[in-house]
Amino acid sequence: MTQHLHPEFHRFLHRHDKETLLGQRGIVVWLCGLSGSGKSTIANSTERVLHQQGRFTVILDGDNLRTGLNANLGFSDDDRLENIRRIAETAKILSDNGIITLVSAITPRGLHRDLARGILGRDFLEVFVKARFDTCASRDPKGLYAKASAGQIPNFTGKDSAFEEPASPDLVLHTEAASVEDCTFELLEVIRQRIQARLKDG
Ligand code: ADP
Repeated sequence: MTQHLHPEFHRFLHRHDKETLLGQRGIVVWLCGLSGSGKSTIANSTERVLHQQGRFTVILDGDNLRTGLNANLGFSDDDRLENIRRIAETAKILSDNGIITLVSAITPRGLHRDLARGILGRDFLEVFVKARFDTCASRDPKGLYAKASAGQIPNFTGKDSAFEEPASPDLVLHTEAASVEDCTFELLEVIRQRIQARLKDG
């Protein structure tokens, strides 16, 4: 099939044109961690600050996308991988158009993060939102831990499906020790540094 495709990237406006219009650089801030670790909360608070600063942002939330783009996917190994591939490809379209993209998705395994990194290249900023399983279970913001412990959710991450901690993320946010405000501040600083570095590289 692919030999009959004729991608037209060269005819379209370039990333630089979009970034100049927006006055910012595209980046993908990929928040991974257990359910209830704080990914959506931090994506939301970070986006609000960036918005106030005049930055154009989009949040790709794993749960939200499972109601649309990824509605046909479950939680088997293959489906989890495809879920991440679609999120990463979507994030790539956004960052290639100059948008600061915040991904909030469990992304439980090293191979999932490697896939996303491979698709996104130097736009990928890996952030581990860290909290212990027991802490997440006691927060249980979506009631999922209660359902999982009652045996109503098969393949629940951290229980019967593994979560592999990232080996060398760009940032670890310890959400048990630091407040939402402090985590947000830390993340904004790392985003700023990454964008500065990109500006120097050209
Ligand atoms: P996730 O998106 O990772 O599934 P949520 O952001 O939906 O998790 O829920 C995290 C819960 O933990 C929220 O109820 C939030 O108020 C709470 N929480 C406590 N401390 C923090 C923190 N430092 N950062 C983020 N969330 C926190």
